[in-house]
Amino acid sequence: MTFVLIQTYDNYISAHIAMGRLQEDGINCWLKDENTVTINPILTNAIGGIKLMVESTQAERAAAILKELEFQHKETITCPRCGSHNIEFVSTPRKASNWIMAIFGYLYAGFALSAEKVNHCFDCGKEFPHEDKE
Ligand SMILES: [Zn+2]
Repeated sequence: MTFVLIQTYDNYISAHIAMGRLQEDGINCWLKDENTVTINPILTNAIGGIKLMVESTQAERAAAILKELEFQHKETITCPRCGSHNIEFVSTPRKASNWIMAIFGYLYAGFALSAEKVNHCFDCGKEFPHEDKE
């Protein structure tokens, strides 16, 4: 079984959201270099971030899913502070493992741990509630 690099992330939330989404579709994938980044976030850039690896035979399908995922985020969510579309939807902070929250809390002091759904703006750092448009 061969794995190929399909996407690189510089933060845990994006990486885990992407991996979770792929796994929902039965894509065989995992995160490489995650441990190194966890131990020392400063090294993230030096080692090229967190690498999302997928089985080579599923790479094409995985790429399509990731593209769709990104498209949905960029098109539907706008930051109320700066108007950016560079938003990540953090849907399950409570279900995230403790080390993720520890790092996230460390990087973003004041992060609302009680929120079950938040959007995070990577341009200005604004976090705001998810608005269901159904
Ligand atoms: Zn913003």
